Amino acid sequence: MSLNIIVTVKQVPDTHHIAADAMKPDGTVNRSALPAIVNPDDLHALEEALKIKERLGASVTAITMGPDNAIEVLRECLYRGADDVILLSDRRFAGSDTLATSYVLKCAIDKIGSYDLVICGHQAIDGDTAQVGPQLAEKLGVNQLTHVSEVVDVSKESITVKRSVENGHERAKSRLPVLLTVTSEANVPRPPSAKRALAFKHLDSKACDGPYENVYLEPDTCIEVDHIKEWDADAIGADAERCGISGSPTRVKKIENVVLVAGDIKQVSNDEADISEMIRELVDAHIIA
Ligand code: FAD
Repeated sequence: MSLNIIVTVKQVPDTHHIAADAMKPDGTVNRSALPAIVNPDDLHALEEALKIKERLGASVTAITMGPDNAIEVLRECLYRGADDVILLSDRRFAGSDTLATSYVLKCAIDKIGSYDLVICGHQAIDGDTAQVGPQLAEKLGVNQLTHVSEVVDVSKESITVKRSVENGHERAKSRLPVLLTVTSEANVPRPPSAKRALAFKHLDSKACDGPYENVYLEPDTCIEVDHIKEWDADAIGADAERCGISGSPTRVKKIENVVLVAGDIKQVSNDEADISEMIRELVDAHIIA
């Protein structure tokens, strides 16, 4: 039994290094001003796919929409164990909000064809909306299990997961195909394999001539990838009007580095008089009614 798993990965600016030049005047991110990394939640999504592959056998395809240098996040996925990777890159995708991003990903997944699981990170650390996964499920017309903190059981027909919900966890089961969004609670992502890094570090989007021989991998390693596939809007049959800025109603006006400064604190003991006094202060300040 073998499942087809698609993992969505986003190249994000390392938001630990936000500076004044982080935004362009048009409100889009100045990606050249910040180091690029794999969105952290997406490493957890990939890890979950690789764990399912180890349990049941699966083919894991990582896809990303981004500029040419987003190829780096795909290489990272290959280093960690992905079987195939696809870069969705086109000037017409630039400036996409979640609506346009999920549309492009949906068109690419339609082109890939059959799949059992789509696994996304819960949210990206730059846009931070956590909307792409749910919007993608909606567009694909499949069930979605969000905030997944553990895959409890999976078979060719169904999956049972533990979801983080307010004040605890719940178990949910869905038939396949299904889309999951995975949180950082789910697992500890494996490090890149040195052998695979040597094997794939020079792989680019140009197909090689002749048979692909990878001297760094064991002969029985099931890797057929000989180049990174690159698809544009035409290749995935996307309507250019629904991609990029023209397909994006959202406008980001400004980005700010917010530094939270601790204010005065007041310690309240648990005796009745102190608690009553605290409640009176909160009511006076219109914090509670
Ligand atoms: P999320 O929905 O948080 O991402 C969830 C998961 O979806 C990721 O973990 C990943 O698995 C997958 N995913 C997301 N993007 C990609 C991709 N390009 N390729 C492959 N997989 C992907 N857009 C809005 O629509 N509304 C906003 O309010 C908004 N605010 C923004 C604020 C800031 C400061 C910035 C920098 C951008 C904002 N954007 C917003 C744009 C946003 O970055 C894009 O819409 C982005 O393409 C997807 O949204 P997200 O980063 O919130 O992803």
